[in-house]
Amino acid sequence: MIRLLSQNLINQIAAGEVVERPSSTVKELVENSLDAGATQIDVVIREGGRSFMSIRDNGFGISKEELPIAIQRHATSKLSDDNLFNIKTMGFRGEALPSIGAISRLSISSRKENCNESWKINVEGGDVSEVIPVQHGYGTTIEVSDLFFATPARLKFLKTSNTETSYIVESLQRLAMAYQNVGFSLKDERRTIFDYKPFGDDLDSSRLSRLSDMMGKDFSENSLKIDAQNDEYKLTGYIGLATLNRASPSHQFLFVNGRPVKDKVFTGAVRVAYQDFLARGRYPMVSLFLEVPPLMVDMNVHPAKTEVRFRDSGKVRGIIIGGIKSALNDAGYKTSTTVSNQALGSIQSNIFPFSKKPFSKQNFNSSYTQKSQNFNSAQLHLKENPHTSYQQMFDSNSITEKISKNEIEQEVNYPLGVAKAQIHETYIVAQSENGLVIVDQHAAHERIVYEKMKSKISESFLQRQALLVPEVIDLKESQIESLEKRFDELSDFGLIIEKFGVNAVLVRETPAILGVLDIKKMILDLVDEIESLGEAVSLKEKIEEVCATISCHGSIRSGRKLNLDEMNELLRQMESTPHSGQCNHGRPTYVEMKKNDIEKLFGRR
Ligand code: ADP
Ligand code: MG
Repeated sequence: MIRLLSQNLINQIAAGEVVERPSSTVKELVENSLDAGATQIDVVIREGGRSFMSIRDNGFGISKEELPIAIQRHATSKLSDDNLFNIKTMGFRGEALPSIGAISRLSISSRKENCNESWKINVEGGDVSEVIPVQHGYGTTIEVSDLFFATPARLKFLKTSNTETSYIVESLQRLAMAYQNVGFSLKDERRTIFDYKPFGDDLDSSRLSRLSDMMGKDFSENSLKIDAQNDEYKLTGYIGLATLNRASPSHQFLFVNGRPVKDKVFTGAVRVAYQDFLARGRYPMVSLFLEVPPLMVDMNVHPAKTEVRFRDSGKVRGIIIGGIKSALNDAGYKTSTTVSNQALGSIQSNIFPFSKKPFSKQNFNSSYTQKSQNFNSAQLHLKENPHTSYQQMFDSNSITEKISKNEIEQEVNYPLGVAKAQIHETYIVAQSENGLVIVDQHAAHERIVYEKMKSKISESFLQRQALLVPEVIDLKESQIESLEKRFDELSDFGLIIEKFGVNAVLVRETPAILGVLDIKKMILDLVDEIESLGEAVSLKEKIEEVCATISCHGSIRSGRKLNLDEMNELLRQMESTPHSGQCNHGRPTYVEMKKNDIEKLFGRR
């Protein structure tokens, strides 16, 4: 027998999608506060939001008459023109409040703007109470207790309170990034987890301040501003330097028309834009805000509204890749300050213990060896014999004050300074205008050779090798179709493919630089990538990997003695080579210590 479901059951089913877990409930309620124009939103949770959450805002409030309507299904004040493609608010589906009310104990207390009475309504497992008077200031407080008590099966899917709390932190942070002019606080039963002050309306400075609240001070100091435009598409935001990378993409954020979204096109484009600078498995930190004409994006793809569908995903990909690449190109030889900070941190922690004890070679050595792991990122191998390295520095008179006028002028002109000495036949020490620069000669030269090779590739296209017997690879028709669109682009990389009947392609030539390869596997990888990322990343990656290996072998090894001219030549080449601040694996090629920092080390500041 077919029968209509009851409203309550319908709401419970909808709740399954809209409020999957406490964090999605918090997200829906905070989105409502933002839509109500709130400038301060305070969230309190207990047991990871499972037993209790309250969201208080200072938005425009809900009137007595509207309270019972707000909790009805498909009731919204936000779709005034009945157009799903012109959405300017966070909400529009009108299902959050009824869904939450169906599975929990929900109360809404509110006072509308210009009103001197406040009203409250309760919903328990779908049963709605009368509207009753309550004490409340301007704005709205929504309390949710015993989430999922009416659908206990869902409770089983929840994780520990700590994990649920971390999900809430994450989804609130995403919203806070997009609304830097709104204050956000989050407390649980033990502590204030964060309290982000509202920043002013000057988007540039306030956005970066808010981002640094969340991504850390390192990010704000080591990020590049993005500002790209293509017709009505606009991309702004900040991206981290490649040397500031992470082991997972958890620090990549995209906002489309102010809404935090997760999107494949975006992740793919970020990967492509950075692929030259990062080893596989390392991810840059980015926070990008894309504005597209509302008609060009479908926000209504998923009940939680975290996914979108672009009408012209090629254009989105283009502006993201283009915007990031040009910012990285402009950054040139820049590398992140975290690198020198880490190094400084290790030096400092090593030095203080000595000052208390009389100096002895033994404790000097042992404490260096012990801490030397921390040095890794900056590759400052001072541990072998601290005496000689200090000695060398003094010998080459770099720290004495015998600097000629001429040299001072040079320092002003050269960002990486003037070479003063080579230590351990591996590192070049240079004096820059207001600091000390240490260069890893091998890593730096490797990058220079690699960049040269790459520009040769793009000038003359790659050499190809013809296969003795062309290889036939069976594919689905749809796969052939998406591959076919890329035949031209692939041939630029030296890969020549033709259609072969309806269900196969024929590979005739492959890039010579790759040598003998598993052609079938490569084609399948390519098809996967083209279908999911819209890009043939792996072919470029493979080619670049080979370039990287070749450049690694072709470059100045560590352990080779260089004279001052050679050292200066390398520094100048670094300055004029794009991306020379990092080696091919995203590690820095040089660190700079500012004079200030050096002075701090010696307690002069
Ligand atoms: P939607 O946000 O999709 O409209 P909801 O179920 O989340 O649907 O909310 C229903 C309606 O309740 C909203 O359209 C809005 O008019 C009102 N509302 C909800 N929360 C608030 C709030 N914090 N302040 C003011 N109005 C609110
Ligand atoms: Mg809503």
